[in-house]
Amino acid sequence: MSTVVIGAGIIGTALAYELQKRGRDVTVIERDAPGKGASFGNMASIAVTEFMPASRPSVWKQIPGWMLDPEGPVAVRPSYMPKLVPWFLRFIAASRPSKLRELEAQGAALCARVHDDLLPLLRETGLEGEMTEDGCLSLYTDEAEFKADREHIEILERFNFPHEVLGRQAIKALEPELSDKIGIAVLFPQNRSMRDPYRLVLRLADAFKARGGKIENGEVTDFVRGNGIQEVVLKDGRRTAAKEVVVCAGAYTTALAKMLGEPIPLETERGYHTQIMSPGISMRHSIIWPARAFMVTPTAGGIRVGGTVEMAGLEAPPDYRRSKITVKRAQEALPNLRHENYTEWMGHRPAFPDTVPVMSASAKTKGVFYATGHGHLGLTYAATNARLMADLITGVKPPIDMHPYRVNRF
Ligand SMILES: Cc1cc2nc3c(=O)[nH]c(=O)nc-3n(C[C@H](O)[C@H](O)[C@H](O)COP(=O)(O)OP(=O)(O)OC[C@H]3O[C@@H](n4cnc5c(N)ncnc54)[C@H](O)[C@@H]3O)c2cc1C
Repeated sequence: MSTVVIGAGIIGTALAYELQKRGRDVTVIERDAPGKGASFGNMASIAVTEFMPASRPSVWKQIPGWMLDPEGPVAVRPSYMPKLVPWFLRFIAASRPSKLRELEAQGAALCARVHDDLLPLLRETGLEGEMTEDGCLSLYTDEAEFKADREHIEILERFNFPHEVLGRQAIKALEPELSDKIGIAVLFPQNRSMRDPYRLVLRLADAFKARGGKIENGEVTDFVRGNGIQEVVLKDGRRTAAKEVVVCAGAYTTALAKMLGEPIPLETERGYHTQIMSPGISMRHSIIWPARAFMVTPTAGGIRVGGTVEMAGLEAPPDYRRSKITVKRAQEALPNLRHENYTEWMGHRPAFPDTVPVMSASAKTKGVFYATGHGHLGLTYAATNARLMADLITGVKPPIDMHPYRVNRF
């Protein structure tokens, strides 16, 4: 009998590969083509210094102002507000100082492992070349902007994540295209990026298939349970017998968890990118400008501009005005960036109100597991999630305490 992984995004494919390596007979079930969900168009960053809870006061106190600003980095569609209330109340509850300290430690425990888990996975699948050598620059116009982001840097210092503060000349030497407006930058050398996050999923899926793994096309719409999980039922009536099921359906996990009698407060934080194929500039590092809330990464054969959060659920059509606003902001940092020959994309970040993923056995059904809610860091966490979840599933003691990531913590 198979171990069934539902969802062939970066989380599902990396985990399927790891489980197969540990001797499981793994079938992945994907309703679309592999890698076409959030994992298709993310900002490609191995963002190990971005684990801070979104519910910290320095962020959420700005949310009302952002929401009133049509060009603000966070938007909530008015029609979606009533649905968001329970999630938002949990988000506020996660902003107590003592809770924030716990959440920071839980994020840091994962990020501290990322390179140790990711590099071996890339090496053994022949994909080392998929990761760049250069880190990420966090940009500030002046001392006042830098001070406003001081809390972020202090948290990183507390957990020993390396960084280097740079002045104007050093910044120019690293990235000559950056505007003279940028007076200070912090280099995060560990925040390297992937050459193409979508290609990474496809290559992991190929590595899994080359070792005999199966990826079946179909939409999971039900489960048969007895003493434990027995079968996975697809929309077209097909059934797959399962010894174990791991739900890795990204932002769509909410519906599947409900079918399994285990409701979870998972929301989609919709994000946008613009992929510019004739940008007129070249860059080595990714950049992030905290005060302007955008990121730029050289990836997928061009320059990708992204950022912003939109709370509007899974069904509402994209609002690509958000992509255009983000490019306008990026041009403040990169005055020669051309907005030509581009595509726009929207994806669903699977987000829990406390920012921490669920990597857990079901509390209700023997043989069911969840790996979801990796939020803004799903690419970053993919190999670590695979390692830790494979430990849980195969009965090996994981190297970190998994209790904080349990499914029934809400
Ligand atoms: C704009 C943007 C920028 C981002 N930037 C970064 C970044 O720089 N670094 C980083 O680490 N992370 C980033 N992220 C987050 C990251 O992309 C996600 O956390 C990650 O892709 C989630 O992966 P996943 O496999 O859980 O979900 P997905 O990639 O969405 O995959 C889930 C899969 O499950 C399938 N599925 C769903 N329901 C069913 C069903 N019932 N039956 C069968 N199949 C089903 C879907 O079709 C989909 O293929 C970003 C996200 C966005 C939107």
